[in-house]
Parts: sequence; structure tokens; C-alpha cells
Amino acid sequence: MIRKVLIANRGEIAIRISYTLREMGIEAAVVFTAVDEGALHQRLAKEAHLIASYLDVAQIIRAAKNAAADAIHPGYGFLSENAALSAACDEAGIIFIGPAAETISGMGDKLESKRLMQEAHVPVVPTWNGEPPDSEYPVLVKATGGGGGKGMRLVERPRNLAAAMASASREAAAAFGDSRVFVEKYIRQPRHIEFQILGDSHGNYVHVFERECSIQRRHQKIIEETPSTAVTSELRAQMGAAALAAARAVKYRGAGTVEFILDPVGRFYFLEMNTRLQVEHPVTEMTTGLDLVREQVRIASGEKLSYAQADLRQTGHSIECRVYAEVPEEDFRPSTGTIEVYEPPAGPGIRLDSGVTRGSSVGYHFDPMLAKLIVWAPTRESAIDRMKRALDDFVLLGVRTNIEFLRCVIGTGDFALGKLDTAFLDRHPELFSLPSDVPVEAILAASLPLPLGECSREEAGEGSSLTFSDAWTSGSWRNS
Ligand code: ADP
Ligand code: ADP
Ligand code: MG
Repeated sequence: MIRKVLIANRGEIAIRISYTLREMGIEAAVVFTAVDEGALHQRLAKEAHLIASYLDVAQIIRAAKNAAADAIHPGYGFLSENAALSAACDEAGIIFIGPAAETISGMGDKLESKRLMQEAHVPVVPTWNGEPPDSEYPVLVKATGGGGGKGMRLVERPRNLAAAMASASREAAAAFGDSRVFVEKYIRQPRHIEFQILGDSHGNYVHVFERECSIQRRHQKIIEETPSTAVTSELRAQMGAAALAAARAVKYRGAGTVEFILDPVGRFYFLEMNTRLQVEHPVTEMTTGLDLVREQVRIASGEKLSYAQADLRQTGHSIECRVYAEVPEEDFRPSTGTIEVYEPPAGPGIRLDSGVTRGSSVGYHFDPMLAKLIVWAPTRESAIDRMKRALDDFVLLGVRTNIEFLRCVIGTGDFALGKLDTAFLDRHPELFSLPSDVPVEAILAASLPLPLGECSREEAGEGSSLTFSDAWTSGSWRNS
């Protein structure tokens, strides 16, 4: 039984987790550091413990003991994918709301996780430990211990590989304390499609459908939605089965995400597994009625999943926009300051998960995400209309934000058509070159001439049958 939880995080996610705990009748305490004195998550908490760093395992364990908490929820980022925290909880007799330490370390290593997935017959991106054959270019150099889009290099020609590996290795050593890198086939114009999974400690697993996260900057998601316009019910069944095979292969316990990239002809490849609650989890909640934090707590308490795969349904459409303190036109540089005006949107089908309010100060210490704006509507079209309206109504002054930029992206013809891939922003340079006093209508008009001929068939895998190439799976994995 969990009676009290220490939330080892800050910002919107600490607040969001506390809401569910209170609804479950569970006490919540948070941690905060000196620069976060007065931050919203600390001010809203009934109990807050000062620590020196959100990355200090020993201090977080001590805070949990001082709080007499039975469990720790790590949120996302920080120590959420750090096996040492899970292990330290075990040692201290505290429940870690997340998977076992071995699962975290196995999945945190991109090569080890691919090895496990290949064993489970889940299609993985072709990968080399050293130089790939010349015919396989372009390739992507990746950090074995990487995350957050860091330590990646696109390499177009064999002669550039060595230098790219050396610089990626340096960046990885600095960011993750792990200099190992490897080479992966670069998939052109992919879509990022991930599956939410849940596993309990009794061997039951379900997937909770997909999220499409193809709108990215620097390999980091900024807009996410579900269902994906690229996923037919047939593809959903296949990818869902692959996600479940992944979960089963590692006896996954808790909420996790299996990330895939989907190529333009409908082949999908395992990218990585995130062993935590995902930033974009609300779109899944909005369309299924599940509260994923509640599910995490129930699973950590040893309860069984209270539904089978066939009981889960998705209704309507949900989109999330990540609101950042940043300047999109200046290469997304972070912006700092004090929030002077904060008037968030409201109305039917709107959810705001925010870590800030009026008076909040935004510094350089942490990730510049301020809030997540999530909408639900019966159809994708109406969800887009709702998101446009909500972004128009969102007034946040004092720091520069990407709100207008998000509004422009959502307003493009390509977004309306579901014509998405991870290079979306590169293909829309007009989104970056706007003087900020141009009316939104003019911006939209400028980006509207649509290459209508192009957006028909390769769209959505709809109508294009899947090709199971040798490099893919040779059809060797089964839906079981
Ligand atoms: P998601 O996969 O949930 O969309 P992101 O990759 O955007 O998550 O990362 C979620 C948060 O965690 C961000 O605030 C990001 O900066 C942070 N983060 C991601 N990977 C790491 C890492 N390896 N170390 C520290 N923070 C990370
Ligand atoms: P991270 O751990 O940093 O989140 P991922 O492996 O999940 O790294 O990749 C992040 C993003 O980088 C993907 O969503 C996709 O946009 C891009 N990406 C990763 N691998 C490939 C690939 N092999 N080909 C093309 N794009 C890729
Ligand atoms: Mg990823």
C-alpha cells in the first residue's frame, strides 16, 4: 500500500503527478533546489524538501525518508531513467514508481535495447558498430547512452564518418558520461510513431495505442497527437503487437513507451524504449480516459491491470503543443525573464499542464518548457480548430515564447493534411522568417499554396501495402 509519495521532479510534471495522488487519497511531497525557491511546484505543495540537486540520488532518498514517504515518483527527465535511483529505492525499502533497475539500464543503452528487441523479433534500424558499407549512406551517428536528441550526427559521405564519430563521442561524454557511439542507417523522411505500454507485476501487458511526434526541432518533439494519420488499423495492430513483444521481452513493469520510426512506405523500426512517463502522455489520457499516473501507482502497488487489450478504446482526437521559453526565429535559443502576464486559454476540451504562472521566473538552469497545451475534440479537424483558438487566446508576456510559432505550424496546409515527417520544420522555412508583427492570416496565406498532387498516396500508408524487406524483418516476428 502506498500512502505517501515523494515526487522527485519539478515544473509541470511534479504538479500533474500531485493532482492524481491527491485524487487517490495519497499524500504528496516534492523536492526543490535553491534556485527553485518560490517555483510553482514548491508553492503548491503541502510539503517541500530542499535538496542541492534534482540529480542527487542520495539526497532524494534522504528527502523521502525525512518525508516518511513509501514511494518515489521520478517524473521524466532528471533521474527518471537512472537505474541507480531505482536500485537505491530497493535498498532503502522505498517503492520506485517505475521499472526495475535492470530494465532501466538495459533500455537506457541503445545497443543493448536493440539486441533485446532483435531477439524478440521486433524490427530494428540497421546498425553498425564501426564503418557501414558505402552503399548504406547517409547514416546517423548516435550516442549509445543518449537521450533528448543529443549526440546525434547525420553523415552523408563515408569520408566524414570518423570526424562525426569523434565529435559525437565528445558530446556524449560531456552530456551522459558515456562516450560510446554507434552508426545507424538514416531513414529518410520518417515519421516518429510511439506506443504507450503498460505492464503489471503479474505478467499482463497492454498497449494504449500510438502517439505521433513527428513535429520536432533538433530531434526533440514539440507537437504530438493521437491517433496518427499515418496509422491504419492494420498498421496499428502490427506496431501494437511489436510494442507488446518488446514489453514482454523485458518483462516490463509500469508505464513505458516504445518508440519507432516509420518510413514513407510503411516499414517501421524500433528506435528506443523510454522507461518512464512521457512528456506527451496527456494525449493518450484524453482519448482513452485512463489516468496514466494512477496506472503507474496501481502497478507499483502490485495491483493487476484492471482491463485487457480488447477493453481499451480510443475516442476522438487529441493534440499537444509544448510551450517553450524560446525564440524560434533565432535557432530556438532559450529566453529568460519573469512572466508578467499569464492568461492561459480555457473552454471545452482544453487541458493545460503548466509549471508556471504570473510572477514565475524563468532561468537558464532547467529545460525551457513552460507548459503543455492539450486539446481534445471529436475529430482531427475540430481538434486543430480548437488548438488554433486556444493558442490565439494564450497570452504569456515577460519571456519570449514559441506560442505564435506553434500557431503557425498548426495552421499550415501540410499539418491540416497530416502530411508530417520529422523534417517538417526544415521544409517550412517560411515559419521562421516572419517579422513578428505580420498578422496570422497573412502568415497562413503565405504558407497555403499546397502541392496537392504530392500529398495523396504516400500519405498515411493508406492504400500502400507494406513491404517486408529482408533488412526489415523477413516477416519473422509474430503477433502473439
Ligand atoms: P519525451 O521522449 O518524453 O518526449 P524528451 O526527449 O523531450 O522526452 O525529454 C524529456 C525531458 O527529459 C526533457 O526535459 C529533456 O530535456 C530531458 N531529458 C531527456 N533525456 C535526458 C537525459 N539523458 N538526461 C537528462 N535529461 C534528459
Ligand atoms: P533520443 O534518445 O535522443 O530521443 P531517438 O533514437 O529516440 O533519440 O531519436 C530521436 C529522433 O531522432 C527521432 O524521433 C527521429 O526524429 C530522429 N532519428 C533517430 N534515429 C533516426 C534514424 N535512424 N533515421 C532518421 N531519423 C532518426
Ligand atoms: Mg527518443
